Amino acid sequence: MTFQSTVPNVFFGGDSAFGPKNIITAVAHGHEAAVSIAQLLAGENPRNRPPPTTNLMSQKMGIHEWSYDNDTSLDVRYKVPWAKAEMALASIRVEVELGFDAATAFKEAQRCLNCDVETVFNQSTCIECDACVDICPTDCITFTGNGEEPDLRTRLKAPALNLAQALYVSGELKTGRVMVKDEDVCLHCGLCAERCPTGAWDMQKYLFNTAMAESAKRPGRARAVQGVPA
Ligand code: SF4
Ligand code: SF4
Repeated sequence: MTFQSTVPNVFFGGDSAFGPKNIITAVAHGHEAAVSIAQLLAGENPRNRPPPTTNLMSQKMGIHEWSYDNDTSLDVRYKVPWAKAEMALASIRVEVELGFDAATAFKEAQRCLNCDVETVFNQSTCIECDACVDICPTDCITFTGNGEEPDLRTRLKAPALNLAQALYVSGELKTGRVMVKDEDVCLHCGLCAERCPTGAWDMQKYLFNTAMAESAKRPGRARAVQGVPA
């Protein structure tokens, strides 16, 4: 869907267009509308959609440049405060959800699992010191001899039980071993990258950017979308 209204330069979605649904649906509508607006501004038909999952933009984060705190939070979800029932029921104009104050919003944000930040392994700089194995809180990194995946699964530091999730296996290292990582239990905490003395582990952030998938075919426009003069 383009989320374009009958007035071509007006787009709308979420609750205002389709009635109450959850915030994720509204955000998805906003994202799709943004794709449509990018198409319109480029003089193209908003109905021409970029293929989904075709473009990921990598943002290298580097050692000690995390954009997040890697201390794992055990806090449960914070409740959004509501207006008192007698006030909310007295008038339809009263906002029921009051939103977080700044301090609570910060604590809620700290619960983020950082699933958009991935561990990336560079085998050429790994000196096989095993420091990352030692520090990983979920034991998801193993250095071992190579083999077929079913065989590798029997030799990991912690059992990799989700067969639907492929193992992350490096090329052969200097001692003949390989690095094997079970992505299924990685917390994205970044401790492996922080501990690694050679920077062989890095945390890289990925932005899913459907609007740029189509733009990638037109170099001039891709630069404009990124905020770089075309
Ligand atoms: S990011 Fe954390 S959980 Fe994932 S491999 Fe590194 S140390 Fe282990
Ligand atoms: S800490 Fe770094 S150098 Fe040491 S084994 Fe892990 S990836 Fe290799």
